[in-house]
Amino acid sequence: MRIIMFLCWLLAAGFLTAQTNDAPRRLAARALGGTPIFDDLRELCDGIGGRPTGSFAASKAIEWSAQKFRAAGLDRVALEPFKIPNLWLPVSAEASAVAPRQFPIRLAAAPFTVSTTGDLEAAVVDAGEGSDADFANLGARAKGAIALIHSKEMKTFDDLFAEYVRNNSLIAAAKRAGVAALLLQSTRPRGLLYRHPMSLDGSLVPIPAAIVNREHADRLSRLAATSEVRVRLNLQNKIGGEYESQNVVAEIRGRETPDEVVLIGAHLDSWDLGTGAEDNGVNVALVLDVARGFKELGLVPRRTIRFVLFTGEEQGMWGSRRYVEQHHTELDKIAATITFDTGSGRLVGFYLNGREDFRKPLDEALGTVSSFDASSHLIDAIDGTDNFDFLLSGVPNLVGIQDPIPYLPDYHAESDTFDRINQREEKATLAISSALLWALAENPERLKRQTRSQVEKLVIDTKLDQQMKAFGQWDEFQSGKRGLFK
Ligand SMILES: [Zn+2]
Repeated sequence: MRIIMFLCWLLAAGFLTAQTNDAPRRLAARALGGTPIFDDLRELCDGIGGRPTGSFAASKAIEWSAQKFRAAGLDRVALEPFKIPNLWLPVSAEASAVAPRQFPIRLAAAPFTVSTTGDLEAAVVDAGEGSDADFANLGARAKGAIALIHSKEMKTFDDLFAEYVRNNSLIAAAKRAGVAALLLQSTRPRGLLYRHPMSLDGSLVPIPAAIVNREHADRLSRLAATSEVRVRLNLQNKIGGEYESQNVVAEIRGRETPDEVVLIGAHLDSWDLGTGAEDNGVNVALVLDVARGFKELGLVPRRTIRFVLFTGEEQGMWGSRRYVEQHHTELDKIAATITFDTGSGRLVGFYLNGREDFRKPLDEALGTVSSFDASSHLIDAIDGTDNFDFLLSGVPNLVGIQDPIPYLPDYHAESDTFDRINQREEKATLAISSALLWALAENPERLKRQTRSQVEKLVIDTKLDQQMKAFGQWDEFQSGKRGLFK
């Protein structure tokens, strides 16, 4: 009896070793074969559509993704509720030139700005790039006018970053000048519209504002150079106070140290003009299909793997921020988080988010899928997606570095749709991330959580502090409201 038990144990142990050694290769092979990843994405984008947090579509997407995790047979699927301070949803946006010529103007309300009170008809003033000097040049003409702000064409992530950094000074100058509304020229040519949030924490900006068709803006500007231009504008947004959303959380419980966690996350919410394919539906589909792959192959790693679809990201990364708050007692046990939020462009490596000590274990973990060459890591610390509050709380965190195409040109735009996806590259990312997740969850060693003082040093060394100041996050970090150490 004893010998039989011993033999059984030996066989089981041998089987387990073979299975675990072979796991990354099996996961990668499965990823490159036929999987439902793009069927999921089509359902999410075409079937549910754009899904701003707080909308009916967002609720549908939350239910839909929880159901997908359940169907894949995950061990625990939960909706974790949390609060967001300010509801903002678009309702309608209409504008037309009424003098010296009548023509319709296409525009899209800027998130977190107020509505107009019914129709607003006013003179248009050309406020250049919206600097203090630009408004000063207009003098009294700016008061009560609709200010047209010019924008450079957006071609790089730096251009996009500059568009966000401009917000605070632009709003301050516009307030001082007493303008009635802001028309912000689209940074994308050929009529493309997109959502451009005017605050990064969801706080309300008291001036009605919209992104206006680039060519329409140029026409208004040329007309305004020689004659009085009047525009009728009607922007209606649904604005409310605090509301509830949910993160969707599923897991595969670890076989040896189930209290230790490796987390892979992507945000489920999107803006509404397109259908949130590149930002960030494709990575939602990725997280779902990675989870499915583990279950299909019956793979149970040493640590628990948690699959998290955050909401409220576009409103100021509320889902991940609240997740860190709600799970603060577990943060010591999170071995790593992996976030994807730049669409389906080729995965070239990972942001180490200031942790040089992550490079070696990461390269070892990627060793089994080295043929994809996702080894061009950067030490940079990333602010602007769901790794951020983990980073501030000292949790080792990775963010995928991807080619900016196809993500960037369609960012938050009408054209962010299913057909934009680079399916071939996304399958490679599925293979890489599946194998990486396995390796991080299986490695007996793990990186330690940083202390508060280590994070403070990291933030300075990586110059993340400058970005946090520009984005209005610095005071909350300084006061300890963000970056939890308990
Ligand atoms: Zn995103």
